[in-house]
Amino acid sequence: MQAPGDEMGYSYDLGDHWNHEIRVVSIFAPEESNGRCQVLDGAGACPPEDSCGCDGMGNWSYKKFLQSWAKFRDGGTSASRREFRDLRAEASKALNYKDRLFDPDEFSVEGAQQAVSTAFRTRASVVQGSKQFTMPMSGFAPGAVQAPAQKGNKNILQEDEFEGITGPRYLQETVATRRDKGDNTLCAECGSPNNLKLCSGCKKIRFCGQTCQRAAWKAWHRQQCLNVQATRAKSAASKQQGTPVAA
Ligand SMILES: [Zn+2]
Ligand SMILES: [Zn+2]
Repeated sequence: MQAPGDEMGYSYDLGDHWNHEIRVVSIFAPEESNGRCQVLDGAGACPPEDSCGCDGMGNWSYKKFLQSWAKFRDGGTSASRREFRDLRAEASKALNYKDRLFDPDEFSVEGAQQAVSTAFRTRASVVQGSKQFTMPMSGFAPGAVQAPAQKGNKNILQEDEFEGITGPRYLQETVATRRDKGDNTLCAECGSPNNLKLCSGCKKIRFCGQTCQRAAWKAWHRQQCLNVQATRAKSAASKQQGTPVAA
Protein backbone atom coordinates (compact mmCIF):
# COMPACT_ATOMS: atom_id res chain seq x y z
CA MET A 1 0.00 0.00 0.00
CA GLN A 2 2.52 2.59 -1.17
CA ALA A 3 0.89 4.52 -4.00
CA PRO A 4 -2.56 5.86 -4.92
CA GLY A 5 -4.57 3.05 -6.50
CA ASP A 6 -2.92 0.30 -4.42
CA GLU A 7 -5.50 -2.11 -3.01
CA MET A 8 -5.81 -4.77 -0.35
CA GLY A 9 -8.54 -7.04 0.97
CA TYR A 10 -9.58 -7.49 4.58
CA SER A 11 -11.96 -10.12 5.88
CA TYR A 12 -13.65 -9.42 9.20
CA ASP A 13 -14.87 -12.56 10.96
CA LEU A 14 -13.57 -15.76 9.41
CA GLY A 15 -16.94 -17.42 10.02
CA ASP A 16 -19.27 -14.82 8.53
CA HIS A 17 -16.87 -13.19 6.04
CA TRP A 18 -17.45 -9.49 5.88
CA ASN A 19 -15.03 -8.76 3.07
CA HIS A 20 -13.61 -5.28 2.60
CA GLU A 21 -11.76 -3.74 -0.30
CA ILE A 22 -9.34 -1.03 0.80
CA ARG A 23 -7.87 1.36 -1.76
CA VAL A 24 -5.33 4.17 -1.33
CA VAL A 25 -6.85 7.34 -2.77
CA SER A 26 -4.04 9.79 -2.13
CA ILE A 27 -0.99 10.21 0.06
CA PHE A 28 0.02 13.44 1.76
CA ALA A 29 3.64 14.42 2.36
CA PRO A 30 4.56 13.99 6.06
CA GLU A 31 4.85 17.77 6.53
CA GLU A 32 1.30 18.28 5.18
CA SER A 33 -0.29 15.66 7.43
CA ASN A 34 -1.07 15.70 11.14
CA GLY A 35 -1.15 11.88 11.16
CA ARG A 36 -4.62 11.73 12.70
CA CYS A 37 -7.07 8.98 11.77
CA GLN A 38 -10.23 10.80 10.79
CA VAL A 39 -13.49 9.61 9.31
CA LEU A 40 -14.25 11.98 6.42
CA ASP A 41 -17.47 10.53 5.04
CA GLY A 42 -19.41 7.31 4.69
CA ALA A 43 -22.75 5.71 3.90
CA GLY A 44 -24.91 2.96 5.31
CA ALA A 45 -25.14 1.41 8.74
CA CYS A 46 -22.67 -1.02 10.22
CA PRO A 47 -24.17 -4.46 9.42
CA PRO A 48 -25.59 -6.52 12.28
CA GLU A 49 -22.95 -8.43 14.29
CA ASP A 50 -22.80 -12.18 13.68
CA SER A 51 -24.74 -11.63 10.42
CA CYS A 52 -27.94 -11.64 12.46
CA GLY A 53 -30.87 -11.67 10.05
CA CYS A 54 -28.42 -12.23 7.19
CA ASP A 55 -28.25 -15.97 7.28
CA GLY A 56 -24.76 -15.92 8.84
CA MET A 57 -23.14 -15.18 5.51
CA GLY A 58 -21.57 -11.71 5.61
CA ASN A 59 -21.51 -9.70 2.37
CA TRP A 60 -23.37 -12.22 0.24
CA SER A 61 -26.53 -12.39 2.27
CA TYR A 62 -26.33 -8.74 3.37
CA LYS A 63 -26.62 -7.84 -0.31
CA LYS A 64 -29.92 -9.78 -0.38
CA PHE A 65 -30.96 -7.95 2.78
CA LEU A 66 -30.30 -4.58 1.11
CA GLN A 67 -32.24 -5.65 -2.00
CA SER A 68 -35.15 -6.59 0.22
CA TRP A 69 -34.83 -3.16 1.91
CA ALA A 70 -34.92 -1.40 -1.46
CA LYS A 71 -38.14 -3.24 -2.38
CA PHE A 72 -39.66 -2.36 0.99
CA ARG A 73 -38.83 1.32 0.51
CA ASP A 74 -40.41 1.32 -2.95
CA GLY A 75 -43.63 -0.17 -1.60
CA GLY A 76 -43.20 -3.76 -2.76
CA THR A 77 -45.84 -6.45 -2.35
CA SER A 78 -47.31 -7.32 1.00
CA ALA A 79 -45.29 -10.58 0.96
CA SER A 80 -42.00 -8.75 0.27
CA ARG A 81 -42.82 -6.16 2.96
CA ARG A 82 -43.43 -8.96 5.44
CA GLU A 83 -40.19 -10.63 4.39
CA PHE A 84 -38.20 -7.46 5.05
CA ARG A 85 -39.91 -6.84 8.40
CA ASP A 86 -38.94 -10.34 9.52
CA LEU A 87 -35.31 -9.90 8.40
CA ARG A 88 -35.12 -6.53 10.12
CA ALA A 89 -36.59 -7.86 13.36
CA GLU A 90 -33.90 -10.56 13.33
CA ALA A 91 -31.14 -8.00 12.56
CA SER A 92 -32.36 -5.83 15.43
CA LYS A 93 -31.46 -8.64 17.84
CA ALA A 94 -27.75 -8.35 16.92
CA LEU A 95 -25.40 -7.30 19.73
CA ASN A 96 -24.67 -3.94 18.09
CA TYR A 97 -28.36 -3.10 17.64
CA LYS A 98 -29.95 -4.56 20.74
CA ASP A 99 -33.18 -2.84 21.65
CA ARG A 100 -33.42 -0.56 18.64
CA LEU A 101 -34.75 -1.07 15.17
CA PHE A 102 -31.96 -1.66 12.66
CA ASP A 103 -31.92 1.05 9.99
CA PRO A 104 -29.71 0.01 7.03
CA ASP A 105 -29.35 3.66 5.90
CA GLU A 106 -28.27 5.08 9.24
CA PHE A 107 -24.86 6.79 9.17
CA SER A 108 -23.27 9.77 10.88
CA VAL A 109 -19.67 10.95 10.58
CA GLU A 110 -19.64 11.73 14.32
CA GLY A 111 -20.88 8.25 15.24
CA ALA A 112 -18.33 6.56 12.98
CA GLN A 113 -15.52 8.77 14.32
CA GLN A 114 -16.61 7.93 17.85
CA ALA A 115 -16.34 4.20 17.12
CA VAL A 116 -12.87 4.63 15.58
CA SER A 117 -11.73 6.83 18.50
CA THR A 118 -12.89 4.25 21.03
CA ALA A 119 -10.68 1.69 19.27
CA PHE A 120 -7.59 3.93 19.81
CA ARG A 121 -8.06 3.80 23.57
CA THR A 122 -7.15 0.19 24.11
CA ARG A 123 -3.66 -0.29 25.51
CA ALA A 124 -3.20 -3.89 24.44
CA SER A 125 -4.09 -5.74 21.26
CA VAL A 126 -5.04 -9.35 21.13
CA VAL A 127 -1.74 -11.06 20.45
CA GLN A 128 -2.82 -14.65 20.02
CA GLY A 129 -6.46 -13.82 19.50
CA SER A 130 -7.45 -17.45 19.76
CA LYS A 131 -10.92 -18.47 20.77
CA GLN A 132 -11.80 -22.05 21.44
CA PHE A 133 -14.95 -23.77 22.44
CA THR A 134 -14.45 -26.65 24.85
CA MET A 135 -16.87 -29.21 26.16
CA PRO A 136 -15.04 -31.31 28.76
CA MET A 137 -16.18 -34.87 29.47
CA SER A 138 -18.42 -35.01 32.48
CA GLY A 139 -16.60 -34.78 35.78
CA PHE A 140 -14.15 -32.12 34.58
CA ALA A 141 -14.70 -28.60 35.83
CA PRO A 142 -14.20 -25.73 33.36
CA GLY A 143 -10.55 -24.80 33.55
CA ALA A 144 -9.35 -28.35 34.24
CA VAL A 145 -8.43 -28.93 30.63
CA GLN A 146 -7.83 -25.38 29.45
CA ALA A 147 -4.61 -24.44 27.70
CA PRO A 148 -2.34 -22.39 29.97
CA ALA A 149 -2.04 -18.71 29.08
CA GLN A 150 1.37 -17.70 27.85
CA LYS A 151 3.36 -14.98 29.59
CA GLY A 152 1.75 -11.59 29.08
CA ASN A 153 -1.62 -13.10 28.12
CA LYS A 154 -4.71 -13.95 30.07
CA ASN A 155 -7.45 -16.50 29.48
CA ILE A 156 -11.03 -15.40 29.79
CA LEU A 157 -13.53 -18.19 30.28
CA GLN A 158 -17.12 -17.70 29.38
CA GLU A 159 -19.68 -20.33 30.27
CA ASP A 160 -21.64 -20.97 27.16
CA GLU A 161 -25.33 -21.46 26.78
CA PHE A 162 -25.85 -23.43 23.63
CA GLU A 163 -29.31 -24.87 23.63
CA GLY A 164 -29.61 -28.60 23.42
CA ILE A 165 -26.12 -29.32 24.75
CA THR A 166 -25.83 -30.30 28.37
CA GLY A 167 -22.83 -30.49 30.64
CA PRO A 168 -20.07 -27.97 31.40
CA ARG A 169 -18.85 -26.15 28.34
CA TYR A 170 -17.06 -22.88 27.83
CA LEU A 171 -15.53 -20.49 25.41
CA GLN A 172 -11.89 -19.64 26.10
CA GLU A 173 -10.49 -16.41 24.73
CA THR A 174 -6.85 -15.39 25.06
CA VAL A 175 -6.17 -11.67 25.43
CA ALA A 176 -2.99 -9.68 25.94
CA THR A 177 -2.40 -8.06 29.33
CA ARG A 178 0.78 -6.20 28.48
CA ARG A 179 0.61 -2.82 26.83
CA ASP A 180 1.52 -2.74 23.15
CA LYS A 181 5.05 -1.83 22.14
CA GLY A 182 5.54 1.80 21.15
CA ASP A 183 5.83 1.15 17.42
CA ASN A 184 2.60 -0.89 17.42
CA THR A 185 0.44 1.77 18.97
CA LEU A 186 -1.36 5.03 18.22
CA CYS A 187 -2.27 8.18 20.13
CA ALA A 188 -5.19 7.16 22.35
CA GLU A 189 -7.03 10.36 21.47
CA CYS A 190 -6.48 11.02 17.76
CA GLY A 191 -4.86 7.89 16.34
CA SER A 192 -1.64 9.58 15.23
CA PRO A 193 1.42 7.30 15.25
CA ASN A 194 3.82 10.28 15.68
CA ASN A 195 5.81 11.55 18.70
CA LEU A 196 4.07 9.25 21.16
CA LYS A 197 4.71 9.65 24.86
CA LEU A 198 3.46 7.39 27.63
CA CYS A 199 0.93 8.96 30.01
CA SER A 200 3.08 9.64 33.07
CA GLY A 201 0.13 8.95 35.40
CA CYS A 202 -1.03 5.46 34.44
CA LYS A 203 1.89 4.49 32.17
CA LYS A 204 -0.60 2.49 30.11
CA ILE A 205 -1.55 4.52 27.04
CA ARG A 206 0.25 6.98 24.78
CA PHE A 207 -0.53 10.44 23.46
CA CYS A 208 0.99 12.42 20.57
CA GLY A 209 1.23 15.62 22.61
CA GLN A 210 -0.25 17.78 25.34
CA THR A 211 -3.25 18.88 23.27
CA CYS A 212 -4.47 15.29 22.95
CA GLN A 213 -3.55 14.39 26.52
CA ARG A 214 -5.53 17.38 27.88
CA ALA A 215 -8.55 16.67 25.66
CA ALA A 216 -8.56 12.99 26.70
CA TRP A 217 -8.16 13.89 30.38
CA LYS A 218 -11.22 16.09 30.25
CA ALA A 219 -13.36 13.76 28.15
CA TRP A 220 -12.60 10.19 29.27
CA HIS A 221 -9.17 9.47 30.74
CA ARG A 222 -9.20 11.21 34.14
CA GLN A 223 -11.07 8.55 36.13
CA GLN A 224 -9.40 5.69 34.26
CA CYS A 225 -5.91 7.09 34.95
CA LEU A 226 -6.64 7.77 38.65
CA ASN A 227 -8.08 4.26 39.09
CA VAL A 228 -4.92 2.68 37.67
CA GLN A 229 -2.73 4.84 39.93
CA ALA A 230 -4.83 3.98 43.01
CA THR A 231 -4.64 0.22 42.27
CA ARG A 232 -0.88 0.47 41.78
CA ALA A 233 -0.41 2.39 45.07
CA LYS A 234 -2.54 -0.17 46.93
CA SER A 235 -0.58 -3.16 45.64
CA ALA A 236 2.74 -1.41 46.43
CA ALA A 237 1.52 -0.74 49.99
CA SER A 238 0.43 -4.35 50.54
CA LYS A 239 3.78 -5.61 49.23
CA GLN A 240 5.59 -3.34 51.67
CA GLN A 241 3.44 -4.55 54.57
CA GLY A 242 4.38 -8.13 53.78
CA THR A 243 8.11 -7.36 53.86
CA PRO A 244 9.75 -8.09 57.24
CA VAL A 245 11.50 -5.04 58.64
CA ALA A 246 14.74 -5.50 60.59
CA ALA A 247 14.51 -4.10 64.12
ZN1 LIG B 1 -3.07 12.72 19.40
ZN1 LIG C 1 -3.02 8.00 32.26
